[in-house]
Amino acid sequence: MPDENCIFCKIIAGEIPSTRVFEDENCVAFNDLHPQAPAHILIIPRLHIDSLDKARFEDKETVGHLLLTAAEIARESGFAENGYRVVINTNSDGGQTVFHLHIHLLGGREFVFPPG
Ligand code: 5GP
Ligand code: ZN
Repeated sequence: MPDENCIFCKIIAGEIPSTRVFEDENCVAFNDLHPQAPAHILIIPRLHIDSLDKARFEDKETVGHLLLTAAEIARESGFAENGYRVVINTNSDGGQTVFHLHIHLLGGREFVFPPG
């Protein structure tokens, strides 16, 4: 069920504009509004799930689909061979600000580990 207060559900519905780079029956991918790398794409499920913490084993196809879609977008975008970072910020200490599960796909530069 879409959450009427969720900005990512509104992006899926087209009520908030975004630059989509990929979509299919399970997910939508679009450029982050405040990019942290030359490529910074968010991949979100069409199904509203608050966070990874709220995902359950019955969501495994949805979550797996997001991850494999991130890898496919990285290859299609041309930065897979150099490398990239995928991030799922979860809850407060994880730095999550939008509570609709999303994968950050960051590419086009080198990243340090551990992240801050
Ligand atoms: P989080 O902090 O929850 O892991 O990531 C939320 C991300 O959503 C942030 O990187 C932020 O820049 C991005 N974001 C927030 N609002 C919007 C929006 O309206 N449009 C787009 N494209 N990205 C957004
Ligand atoms: Zn949502």
